[in-house]
Amino acid sequence: MNERALQKRLKRLTAAFILISVVILAFGSLASYYLRTVLGEALSEQMVSETEQYKINILRQMDADYQTLDTLASFLRYSSMSTDAFINAFLDSKEHNNFEQLCFFGKGDVDLNIRVDSDKDVDEDAELASMDENVIKIVEQAWDGRSGVSRIYRDEHSDRNMFAYAVPVYAGDRQVGALTASLSTDVFSDVLENTSILGGEGYIHLISDSGAILVRSENRVVKEELNSIYEGGYISDREQERIEAAMADGVQCTTEFTYEDASYKVLLEPVGVNGWYLFCVQTAEGVSRTIFNLMTNTRIITVVMLFAILIVITFGYRMIYQGSRRLIRRSYYDPLTGAYNIVKFGYEVDPLIKSTYDYSLAALNVRQFKFINEIFGSREADSLLCYIRKVISEHVRPEEYYCRSSEDMFYILFRDTDREVIHDRLQEIIREISAFGFGGRRDYQILMYCGVVIGTDVRDQDPDVQKSMTHVRFALDTARSSLKHNIWFYDTRLHESEILENYVESHMNQALENGEFKMFLQPKIDLKTGRVGGAEALVRWIPDSGKMIYPGQFIPVFENNGFCSNLDMYMVEQACRQIRTWIDQGSDPVPLSVNQSKLLFYEADYIDRMKALLDKYQISGELITLEILEGLAMENTDELNEKILRLRELGFRISMDDFGSGYSSLNTLASLKIDELKFDREFLLRLKDSNMDYSRQIVIMNEIVELTKKLKIKTVVEGVETEENEELIKSFGCEYGQGFYYSRPVSVQEFSEKYLNHKYA
Ligand code: C2E
Ligand code: MG
Ligand code: MG
Repeated sequence: MNERALQKRLKRLTAAFILISVVILAFGSLASYYLRTVLGEALSEQMVSETEQYKINILRQMDADYQTLDTLASFLRYSSMSTDAFINAFLDSKEHNNFEQLCFFGKGDVDLNIRVDSDKDVDEDAELASMDENVIKIVEQAWDGRSGVSRIYRDEHSDRNMFAYAVPVYAGDRQVGALTASLSTDVFSDVLENTSILGGEGYIHLISDSGAILVRSENRVVKEELNSIYEGGYISDREQERIEAAMADGVQCTTEFTYEDASYKVLLEPVGVNGWYLFCVQTAEGVSRTIFNLMTNTRIITVVMLFAILIVITFGYRMIYQGSRRLIRRSYYDPLTGAYNIVKFGYEVDPLIKSTYDYSLAALNVRQFKFINEIFGSREADSLLCYIRKVISEHVRPEEYYCRSSEDMFYILFRDTDREVIHDRLQEIIREISAFGFGGRRDYQILMYCGVVIGTDVRDQDPDVQKSMTHVRFALDTARSSLKHNIWFYDTRLHESEILENYVESHMNQALENGEFKMFLQPKIDLKTGRVGGAEALVRWIPDSGKMIYPGQFIPVFENNGFCSNLDMYMVEQACRQIRTWIDQGSDPVPLSVNQSKLLFYEADYIDRMKALLDKYQISGELITLEILEGLAMENTDELNEKILRLRELGFRISMDDFGSGYSSLNTLASLKIDELKFDREFLLRLKDSNMDYSRQIVIMNEIVELTKKLKIKTVVEGVETEENEELIKSFGCEYGQGFYYSRPVSVQEFSEKYLNHKYA
């Protein structure tokens, strides 16, 4: 994971967290809002039904008082209406009601006005005019035959709020007066001061339709003793208007007021008497307070928890980020120079290499860095590496990368593909690096060498950074071994042949053991008879992959590394074994020619080993022709001749291969005791070449053939590809022809089937 990926991942984590938090909060708020609404509605209903109940209680109380007063009036109807009777009646009924004062005011000519107080004070000259105007009003109403309840008034005498009932009194059928009973509003207090209003979370005032508070509840939240609900400004003007409008219509309404930052719900319920209203206030969330508290607490806890988690995550995020950054730095950067390391370089460069050929990759190395380390010490060597990084960093452009992969190995990715440009840029870098002086000394010349691969040169179908690096290292190796060039450009063709060479060298021993070297046979045709007069054994390397490798691709390598003698000996044995097989099968064996390398020919025990093979397979040496190259004769003709003679003594026949391809000389032909001369296909090719003098070639060839006849040397011409070729060599008097005209080299099996015991047709 790189830094960008880490940041991306952490960002995603944070976003996920925020999203989850928002969802939780939104869901919580929604649920709480819903619950609140439901509970609010339930509470409102509760408030309405309870207030209704209190209203009924008040009406019931008033009803009872009325009845008491009515009963008293009826009683008086049939009594003599004497003062004593009145007093007694009042006192009797006193036990059963809350009346504070009872009065009788005679109507018309009935001159009887009595007032009795609760402390039994009797005033037989009571005057209606001395009564409160509210009482006078209902007395006059009662005189008219209508019962009534007065408005609440302040009684000067007792300094209490009072109200009165008035009923008409009859004597027989004649109305004689009105009976009034005054009560303290405390009777309502008994009803309204009930502490269980709204489960203890509410209180009720009795108010008039002008908003005056008639009976004030002691449980109220507003501590001041207000005379009107509008006083103090707790109810807004707008709400006041609304309330007044509802009261004018005598209908129920709800409102809210704010006191000491808390808001309270209010229900105004008309009592139905004198424009009275019950002013019911809900002081808290009532019965569901616990639930509300729970909900509020849960909400607070959730928010606190989310904050705590956010803090933890922020800290975690920072820790992870910083830790990972440290880790990333350690795993992506070279601790010494601060440059990218090879891993990071790979991450950055690989996508680019995969997407375009417009790049070149260079590897830079210091010559004899180990020596610098030893002579100048590791501190100086380290500062050289830091200096190299500095120089490179100053030369790379945007979208170009560099890294230190190991010790003194630097890679640079350029976006140029022009050889000259890259060469110049690298030379400039090298020139600057060379200017480094160890501890101020400038007597040591730093030498650099580099390998470069250019994307457009290779045009790899399946490119990746590893492959490019392998190519670049390959070029670097060449630059290392070259004293002339310090910058070497990778060449695909060269590289492929080097790869093959490498493969050949590293696999040859195993291949020989596994029998991957196969003997193919190419017939040699007797030009007189047209029959197969022999065959040349030509090696083919068929690895497990099945892709055939031809001698031209590995024989030169084997000649260099000495493996050729092993292979040749192996081929001689294959030829001997094949001849033995043919004999055993009852076929007439054809002589086989085997190519012999120079190395093998000069091996000390060569002849003994050859003899051992003849003995092992019990075959005559005459069936084996050993093809040697003309070049062998150049060195020591005497020694060569001696070997040839010894081989001929064993029965082997000796052929000089590729005659005419190199330094052919009639001298060697004369001095070597060979049995056969193989003209290289060059001879036939030259005859075709229009630049050559055709007639002169023919003369030379004719002469050579003449000479061989005299020396009793048979001639074979290689490379016969056409009928004309055959005609021509026949005309010279050559004995054998070999070439694609007759057959390509084929497998032993095919050869046996085609040519053994059969006349060539
Ligand atoms: P060579 O010994 O001169 O073998 C003849 C080469 O000419 C063979 O190539 C053969 O396939 C090719 N040839 C034959 N007729 C024609 C033709 O009509 N036209 C053309 N264009 N080519 C023809 P090959 O098999 O690729 O072998 C190449 C060389 O490798 C051989 O040349 C020989 O020098 C060497 N070689 C092959 N096998 C062995 C071996 O077992 N040991 C050693 N030391 N060298 C071998
Ligand atoms: Mg040959
Ligand atoms: Mg040849």
